Amino acid sequence: MNSNNFPIIDGHNDTLLRFFEKESAQKAKDFLEGDGLGHLDLPRIRAGGMVGGFFAIFSPNSHEILPDDDDRNPPYAGALSQKSAEQSLQGMLDLRDAIVTEAKGEVALCHTVTEFSNAMAAGELAWITHIEGAEAIKPDLSNLEHYYARGLRSLGPVWSRPNVFGAGVPFRFPSSPDTGRGLTPEGEALVKECNRLRIMVDLSHITERGFWDVVRVTNAPLVATHSNAHAISAHSRNLTDEQLRAIGETGGMVGLNYATGFLRPDGQWSPGTGADVLIRHLEHMIALCGEDCVGLGSDFDGARIPSFIKDASGLPALVAAMVEAEFGEELITKITHRNWLRVLEKTWGS
Ligand code: ZN
Repeated sequence: MNSNNFPIIDGHNDTLLRFFEKESAQKAKDFLEGDGLGHLDLPRIRAGGMVGGFFAIFSPNSHEILPDDDDRNPPYAGALSQKSAEQSLQGMLDLRDAIVTEAKGEVALCHTVTEFSNAMAAGELAWITHIEGAEAIKPDLSNLEHYYARGLRSLGPVWSRPNVFGAGVPFRFPSSPDTGRGLTPEGEALVKECNRLRIMVDLSHITERGFWDVVRVTNAPLVATHSNAHAISAHSRNLTDEQLRAIGETGGMVGLNYATGFLRPDGQWSPGTGADVLIRHLEHMIALCGEDCVGLGSDFDGARIPSFIKDASGLPALVAAMVEAEFGEELITKITHRNWLRVLEKTWGS
């Protein structure tokens, strides 16, 4: 089995924010020609066999607080105003559009599963527009359809900070995922409106209470695009066995996150993390969700990842670890791309 022969659909990256914040007069060109910084750009996407995925739009706080190497309990990020979130959302959508235009057919903005499959077949990068934290959406949801029209097909109601729709998990280790309040009435209305528009609802950053609130109101499969197993790494961002079982029962999806601090049993942010830990998470999640409900959700450009992967061009090393763990061709096909296609079809319709 050749580990370069598995097309990879990725559940989550923060690449658009990286280029949005970059000091450059030609950000789209930098992405398309490659800047060699961070984890993702088009040449490294091609080199690693990545064919598409969820490109997050994350509106940062003005002074973003991210964990240091040894800081497993950073301060909880403060709330962000709707106006400033919407401003950066629009800026990143404009950058996305510039990338698609300048790519001249090499990048395809996808609104349906047919568009996604066609892009894969044509060798175009299949781009799904995702919002990470719904601060830009007005509490009465009056601008949600506008963003749907601009291509929005996946949305996380909360990032790891509080907003009008609910609360996200602060980064804590060790910690239970039960870190605070669940969905507000506005949050429940947002989930229902996403169901109506068939926008995927991403549960990766939501509190445990919020997760079960979504279970109560949603009619869609449960999806956590970039989270790991709490039984192996007791980080607040990871999913309990009960949550993983619920994801499997609804035919949903969990994407393996490569962030070392969410992978390691000791919670350390350590680039020396080996492939064995990623395989353990995959095996645990498969045991609880079933082999149709587990995929990949890198967190490229949003987290410190193991040096054996390094960046998107190192994805074949992760596939090689699956081959070595005797996952078999059928299961590797499911994990690398088929399961994401299945859950997109189930969520978006055909
Ligand atoms: Zn995230």
